[in-house]
Amino acid sequence: MTMKNKVAVITGAGSGIGRSVSFKLAEQGMRVVVVDLDHKRGEETLAFVKEKGGEGIFIKADVSKNGDLEKYVSTVREKYGRIDVFVNNAAILNQPALLADHSEEMFDQIIAVNLKGAFLGLKHVLNVMEKQKSGVIINSASTGGIHSTPYLSVYAAAKHGIVGLTKTSAVEYGPLGIRINAICPGGVITNMTKHLDMSDSEQNGPLGRPANPEEIANVVSFLASDEASYMNGSIVTIDGGLTA
Ligand code: NAD
Repeated sequence: MTMKNKVAVITGAGSGIGRSVSFKLAEQGMRVVVVDLDHKRGEETLAFVKEKGGEGIFIKADVSKNGDLEKYVSTVREKYGRIDVFVNNAAILNQPALLADHSEEMFDQIIAVNLKGAFLGLKHVLNVMEKQKSGVIINSASTGGIHSTPYLSVYAAAKHGIVGLTKTSAVEYGPLGIRINAICPGGVITNMTKHLDMSDSEQNGPLGRPANPEEIANVVSFLASDEASYMNGSIVTIDGGLTA
């Protein structure tokens, strides 16, 4: 089974892991829908996809807003008629702080984008995939979704929430022909982490370095393919052995 001409929607595709995933899936012949809040970065990703001979569209959307989700899913349906792969990836990171130093506003913002955004993505895309009776979803969790993440407690709570959404939805929708898995990267060099010191060997684990976004995209591409046809409800660490 080929991935050629299948339709992939990738949120947070203007940067880092989402951008690399867009390149990788376009390389496999998929039509990619680049979704991001940042217009410039999203258009840039799409331009790179097209430069490499790929096909796709960019849609500006805030994943934490239900109305934006409704609009972009209906735009994709009008343009391509289906969604074969959904990479539920957009998220933000706050300034590290002890739990009691997290403000209520910070809590609300992280939960709105990282957890409610992931929920809304699942909700709207599953409506489409349910009618198709097929589809693959990859949620971006984190080692913070299965492990403590000192100074990022709310981020960790949101990512643990994504693990819960993944496991439960995989059980609910597996019988309908839809596979849902989550990835848990460790440290990855992207715009999200550029302000953090990633040279700390303890945080990097046994391989002694953070990942490049391409190393995460390779796993997402595998999960999206029929090669992973028996993977459902899996929480896949890609952390160089950090949590082993
Ligand atoms: P990044 O900051 O490089 O890219 C995130 C993209 O999401 C940006 O283009 C940003 O504009 C977009 N975005 C932010 N808020 C949005 C919103 N409300 N609506 C739509 N788009 C929005 O981040 P990244 O490192 O590539 O992270 C991608 C995913 O991987 C995230 O879910 C992140 O939590 C997860 N992750 C990252 C790391 C890491 O070390 N970088 C580790 C584990 C998990």
